[in-house]
Amino acid sequence: MSNKKRIALDMDEVIADVIPKFLDLYEAEFGQRLTTNDFRGRKIYDTPAAYKIRNHLFDKGFFRDLPLMANSQEVVRWLHDYYDIYIITAATEFKNSLEDKYEWLEEHFSFIPWQRYIFCGDKSFMKADYMIDDKASHLAKFDGKGLLFSASHNVESTGDFTRMNSWLEIKAFFEEELKKDGIVV
Ligand SMILES: [Mg+2]
Repeated sequence: MSNKKRIALDMDEVIADVIPKFLDLYEAEFGQRLTTNDFRGRKIYDTPAAYKIRNHLFDKGFFRDLPLMANSQEVVRWLHDYYDIYIITAATEFKNSLEDKYEWLEEHFSFIPWQRYIFCGDKSFMKADYMIDDKASHLAKFDGKGLLFSASHNVESTGDFTRMNSWLEIKAFFEEELKKDGIVV
């Protein structure tokens, strides 16, 4: 049993960037390249006309080639030395995503073993010291310290969490936490 503290880490819009693909799909469908301001406070597909592009989440391959969020790989690699990192993703709505996500994690985060992949629908069972997620509703059901990763859809979200605007902010946050725990980095 490890005596490291545990971090529960989300995938989409935290380490994996779904936005470029949705911008492409939106543009292919409606002939317009959206900017971040166009979907402030919501998902790109959260309009009656655009909702159908959400269906691409069910496509085999959608999640396999998503780009990394800036600095996520390096900072998670650093965190891995000091914390037990569990990947927890609410993925089971999209059964075709499961293999894609597994392979994506093997490709980009090979230092996290498969024993720490949790593909689920509801994260409320998760016991950890920290949870990093872009969805405030997951953090609301979490007992530990919640870190909300900023995304267009959550700019209005409020709750018992600390907002993080980048992976460099997350690194700075954990440098302070490690200091409090007496761990020299
Ligand atoms: Mg997410």
